[in-house]
Amino acid sequence: MDRVILIKYGELTTKKGNRNFFINTLYNNIKDKLDGFNVKIVKDRSRMYIEFLDSELDKIKKVIDNIFGIHMYHIAYIVDTNIEEIKNKLLDIMKSKSFKTFKIETKRSDKTFAYNSMEVNPILGGHLLKNIDNISVDVHNPDILVKVEIRNKHSYIYTNSYKGSGGYPIGTQAKGMLMLSGGIDSPVAGYLAMKRGIKLDAVYFEAIPHTSLDARNKVIELTKKLVKYTNEINLHIVNFTKIQEEIYKTADDTYCITIMRRMMYKIMEKLAKKNKALVIINGESIGQVASQTLTSMSVINSVTNMPVIRPVACLDKLEIIDIAKKIDTYETSILPYEDCCTIFVPKHPVINPKLSECLKMEEKVDYDKMIDKAVEDIYTIKIKDEKDIKFKNLL
Ligand code: ATP
Ligand code: MG
Repeated sequence: MDRVILIKYGELTTKKGNRNFFINTLYNNIKDKLDGFNVKIVKDRSRMYIEFLDSELDKIKKVIDNIFGIHMYHIAYIVDTNIEEIKNKLLDIMKSKSFKTFKIETKRSDKTFAYNSMEVNPILGGHLLKNIDNISVDVHNPDILVKVEIRNKHSYIYTNSYKGSGGYPIGTQAKGMLMLSGGIDSPVAGYLAMKRGIKLDAVYFEAIPHTSLDARNKVIELTKKLVKYTNEINLHIVNFTKIQEEIYKTADDTYCITIMRRMMYKIMEKLAKKNKALVIINGESIGQVASQTLTSMSVINSVTNMPVIRPVACLDKLEIIDIAKKIDTYETSILPYEDCCTIFVPKHPVINPKLSECLKMEEKVDYDKMIDKAVEDIYTIKIKDEKDIKFKNLL
């Protein structure tokens, strides 16, 4: 082993009181995602090292790129902390590269090392200049920036920096319940929530036979896309048919969507409590459709005291689409299956619903009983892996 992946914690280091909790959570997440690879992971207070097999590096990088809480990482050569070793290794590395100018930046955390940082730079630089033709030092705009970190036992040399996903490690916040439809917005909302460290369960409302198994399958596919960023997601499938049919029988056409969404929120709250989640998360975006005006949102939201997080609330559709493409959910989201929200859409849904009207219409039906039944009958699929679960007919 002469290289390691060197992960720096970045933003985590600002969380002073929680530092160990953040680092341990990140460590466990990395360990979980790299299960199956031949790696050794070592953590200390300021960084993490992953020893790997060369043949697995590309795959490991792909996994690491999707782990929240990693802001920057490097593939670093590792040598014993000894000036001759460092000189020789650096020369080896640089001989294999094509460049005209370079700069060396040394950081010495081992204060017992015989030379300080300012002394090491010219020693190493001089060694390169003496042994490689036609190169020179450029401290402002070098072709290659070499970083050397001198630590107690080992030292690290690297010339690369890879950007991680940023955010906080999943699990550093409590759990949230994501309303996951087959659309473009909700998977993006889920991704952004996970990026803040929130662990997700997902909930899909379906209205079979008005919605198809293909539509359900699409949500399963989207969950698999999201699970790339976390270790597992429980997908709860709610049979919403009876409630939805009842709404359309008894409520004014223009209020159907408002009431339907109020019932969804009620079920979400119950499910959240049952699964120890503290917030509801969804893909509502202000002004996008009639049910997402501020008036609608306020009337809908008033059925629950639970906080509702809307990560894409203030994004334009095109901005949401950009993220959907980046996280690879877009192509699945645009598959053309009907969602339970779209099947009964009235021509003119109310844009400024009144709470009093909703309550009047809701009084006609014993929704609470139906909601309890829907929660009782929930079907949960645990999704751990992108390749997981060959869809089986659940009916
Ligand atoms: P998306 O593209 O995410 O489906 P949308 O623009 O279609 O959103 P709506 O259909 O009004 O908007 O839904 C708003 C949000 O409500 C969705 O982003 C999702 O979080 C939630 N939602 C809608 N339908 C369902 C469903 N069938 N199951 C679970 N959540 C849903
Ligand atoms: Mg939708």
